[in-house]
Amino acid sequence: MKPPYTRLRLSIFALFTVLIGSSSCMREGKTIETQSPVETAIPVASANSDTAIPEPDSLTLQAAIPAKSAHPAAIVANSIADAETIIARKQVPILCYHQVRDWREKDSKQAKDYIIPEERFKDHIKMLADSGYQTVLPDQLLAYLTTGASLPEKPVMLTFDDTSLGQFTVAAPELEKYGFKGVFFVMTVSLGRPNYMTRAQVKELSEKGHAIGSHTWDHQNVKKYQGQDWVTQVEKPSRQLAEITGKPTEYFAYPFGLWNPEAIPELKQRGMVAAFQLAEKRDPQDPLHSIRRIIASGYWSSNSLHRAMVNSF
Ligand SMILES: [Zn+2]
Repeated sequence: MKPPYTRLRLSIFALFTVLIGSSSCMREGKTIETQSPVETAIPVASANSDTAIPEPDSLTLQAAIPAKSAHPAAIVANSIADAETIIARKQVPILCYHQVRDWREKDSKQAKDYIIPEERFKDHIKMLADSGYQTVLPDQLLAYLTTGASLPEKPVMLTFDDTSLGQFTVAAPELEKYGFKGVFFVMTVSLGRPNYMTRAQVKELSEKGHAIGSHTWDHQNVKKYQGQDWVTQVEKPSRQLAEITGKPTEYFAYPFGLWNPEAIPELKQRGMVAAFQLAEKRDPQDPLHSIRRIIASGYWSSNSLHRAMVNSF
C-alpha cells in the first residue's frame, strides 16, 4: 500500500507533466534500454521509501521529479485509463499514406490506392491546414487516450508506411510548410535501397521532430510469426531504428494492417507502447495496440478525404 506522501509526490509530478504539455521534450533522457512504459508501473519510483520522502522545503516541482527512476510515460502508465474508457474517447482521425509520387503507366488500378500523386497529396495537406486541423504525434495521442490529456481542437495524425523515398523528398517538406509533423513507420530491410529512404534521411526526419516507428524488417504478416520471427521482425528493427534516431522505438504499424490479439503481448514485451492497424474494429481488451487508421487513397480528392475522415472516426 502506498503511503500518502507518495501519492502527493506522484500527483505533483503528474501535474508537472500536464503543465509541460508535450512529453517529448522530457523524454530525451530516456534510454533505449528503458522498459516499456506500460510495463513500468509507477511503484518502482516509490519502492524505496527513504528516498521517496521529500523534505518539506524541497517539495517543489523540480524536487518532485525523480532523478532516474521514472519518465513521463511511466506517470501516464500509472494513471492509465482502462480499455473501456479508452474506447469511449472520441477517435482521432489517423491517415495512412504509402508512396507519394506521380502515377506511372505500369501502376495497377489497385496500386493507385497506395500511390498518391504529388499535387493531390499537397491538396490533402492544404485542405487539412485550411480546415484548421493540427497534426499530433503518437506521444500526444497516447497521453490523450490514457489520461484524457488535451489535444488540439481538430487533431489529425499523418502516418507513412513502408519507407518510400517520396515520403522524405515530397511529403515531409510539404508537412513542414504548415508546421505539421508526420509519423514514419519504417521497414528496415528497405533502408538505403533505390527509391527508399536511407538511414540518414530517417535520422533527419527524426531530428526535425517527426516520429519514427517500426514497420518490421521485411513486412511479413504478424499473424504468422513464431519464435525467432519476433526477434527478426520486431526486436532487431526496433534496435536498429533506435540506433539511427537515438530515441527508443515505441510505436509499431502492422504490415497490411493485419494483427491478432496474440501478437499484442509479444509487442508489449518488446517495448511497443502502441500499435497501429488499419480500419478494423479495435481490440476491446487492448485498444492501444489496435489503433485504427484509414488509407488515404491516391484516388481521393481533398473533399473525399475529408468525408472519409468524418465518417470513419
Ligand atoms: Zn506496409
